[in-house]
Amino acid sequence: MRTKNLARAAAAEAPKDLRSWLVHLAERGKLAVAREGVGLADELAAVSKGLERDQAVLFPKPGGHDIPVVANLFAARDWVADSIGVSEEQLLTHFLAAARNPLPSLEVTSGPVQEVVHNEVDLLRQLPIPKHNERDSGPYITAGLLIARNPRNGIQNVSIHRCQISGPNRIGILLLPRHTLSYFRMAEEAGEALEIAIVIGVHPALLLASQAIAALDEDEMGIAGALLGHPVDVVKCKTNSVRVPAHAEIVIEGRILPRVREPEGPFGEFPQYYGPRADREVIEVDMVTHRDQPIYHTIVGGGYEHLILGGVPREATLLQHLRRSFPNVLDVRLTRGGTCRYHLAVKIDKITDGEPKNIIMSAFGAHYDIKQVVVVDKDVDIGDSEEIEWAVATRFQADRDLLVVSGALGSKLDPTTSNGISAKMGLDATVPVDAPELDFTRIHVKGEEEVDLATVLQEDPNAAFSRVLARAR
Ligand code: MN
Repeated sequence: MRTKNLARAAAAEAPKDLRSWLVHLAERGKLAVAREGVGLADELAAVSKGLERDQAVLFPKPGGHDIPVVANLFAARDWVADSIGVSEEQLLTHFLAAARNPLPSLEVTSGPVQEVVHNEVDLLRQLPIPKHNERDSGPYITAGLLIARNPRNGIQNVSIHRCQISGPNRIGILLLPRHTLSYFRMAEEAGEALEIAIVIGVHPALLLASQAIAALDEDEMGIAGALLGHPVDVVKCKTNSVRVPAHAEIVIEGRILPRVREPEGPFGEFPQYYGPRADREVIEVDMVTHRDQPIYHTIVGGGYEHLILGGVPREATLLQHLRRSFPNVLDVRLTRGGTCRYHLAVKIDKITDGEPKNIIMSAFGAHYDIKQVVVVDKDVDIGDSEEIEWAVATRFQADRDLLVVSGALGSKLDPTTSNGISAKMGLDATVPVDAPELDFTRIHVKGEEEVDLATVLQEDPNAAFSRVLARAR
């Protein structure tokens, strides 16, 4: 972190925060507003899911609570690109460039996120925390950036975890074996709690950056700065040394307690199943701060926003991994049907037969979640699952083009695995290099892309049809 310098002053530009993104969406007709008083349990999530492919949605006075809730910050993949100011074609390469060239945060002495301070914590009274899927154990904070500091060197990590409200100042948390857990183990071995903050209501770039596959001790907030094009202003928490985005909406300050585990779950997860209940780590909350009149962001577990938020940064990492060995890999997509985690489509400019199978093996090695890989030629739109299926239907023979690996490591959240031990399947759906030209030439109507139906079709089809019939009589 650097101290505030003249660069920002010269830029004289309002920082990009959640509100700036909501204004951007509203100006484009992409923000729906619900009637006041939608229920926080189930109803708010049901409305959000109903709109998840179309619009973001703001809920004033949810459950009678003063603080509004917003959901669906991304309702389409191109919104992700829009949020960081690039086209969808540039999305993955821009994300990789930001991960390679982070812009460190700027520490400031005060920020709007500390305008209101609650010394006495009562989470459900102070914040409108929804319950999402039917069999979730109760209300969950789902869109909170968990910021933790390495107890040995002070470097921060940013990630998202599901956070169950277990009591007025108590949160049950799922820590998968990644960076937050590494920091917590360091603290716990020393018999100490790990200082953390949960940050709710930030610009989408911060949410995306939190999902980057970065190394331990690479502060994801720097990636967020690079995505935004300006450093993120951060301010020190009031009860601990964690630095949080100054223009966030809400901050929950607390500690992950050493040698305490309590029941957490079940909770509806990205595979469209419930993650089970088990004894997990516990956060004790010390303080809640927020803006004057804050906005609370929630993500419906397993909903489209959840899938896309995790999917895009993973795609960027997979693209980078594959291109290192195969420069002719053009694009990758984690398909929605594969929950944006398990099924990968790879588009290549095919040079030699056989190489698609090497690409499949490389993809299996890139991330244990990858369960199925389909490799297709450059004429296939991998953003369209029908196109991928068409390539399999017409360019794939199972006895020749199928690769199966058994007994590999997969996702523990996939209920067909045996505690994470999984089979992998690869499909080479590319055209053989020496195939006769016309055999695999896609049919095409000349002019089909250019035709302007508005100028060709008559305005009143019923009247026009009557005239045609009258003439025929
Ligand atoms: Mn990390």
